[in-house]
Amino acid sequence: MRKILVVEDEDAIREVIALNLRNAGYDVTEAASAEQALAVFSPAACFDVALLDIMLPGMNGFSLCESLRRDSATIGIIMLSAKTLESDKIRGLSIGADDYMTKPFSVSELLARVGALVRRVGRQDAADTPAPEGRILSGAFALDLKSRMLYKDDRPIDLTQVEFQIMELFFTSPGAAVARDKILERVWGEKYFGDVKIVDVNIRRLRMKIEDEPSAPRHIVTVWGYGYRWNA
Ligand code: CA
Repeated sequence: MRKILVVEDEDAIREVIALNLRNAGYDVTEAASAEQALAVFSPAACFDVALLDIMLPGMNGFSLCESLRRDSATIGIIMLSAKTLESDKIRGLSIGADDYMTKPFSVSELLARVGALVRRVGRQDAADTPAPEGRILSGAFALDLKSRMLYKDDRPIDLTQVEFQIMELFFTSPGAAVARDKILERVWGEKYFGDVKIVDVNIRRLRMKIEDEPSAPRHIVTVWGYGYRWNA
């Protein structure tokens, strides 16, 4: 059963989220603060997805996101906020969140987003399909399909699941311009409710990790008005 961590200080909202996720078949752990969340979170706890409210008493959702991401590159993180400020959205995504939802949201939107993220982060364990073997090579880079790690000159680079999927898409389309819409559809799914800007934020984060000079990228090249092209 997929494990979801729900961190929200407003009891009524947290209960509705938890109830609906349990009803959809998820194993839900609730926390009313970041401190409570950290007490139950460990990489061994194997949460698939965490929903983090931004405005929390004590430590806020952004700091919690950074902390969870330090401990786990693979957990899927959705930020929840009453704010609609674009800067909050970008900030949440740039520090390691995978998605962002603005309150109030409908139950169907919640389930669609969580479902899409669960599929993306899909733990390769037990009854699941066996992990694909092998590496995709591209210039100085190697993408290890089993460990889901990227290597540059044999140096490991930690990627989130979303970043890994974007790299996989690039590596299987070398030299071709890939449309932002196509990246969004392939990585986030056709039913994604959000904005295509989420692609740009993840590309910016990938460049920070893999480019020698992120401000003058050589590997992930912008194709203006269209998308991105991978150059090994
Ligand atoms: Ca709150």
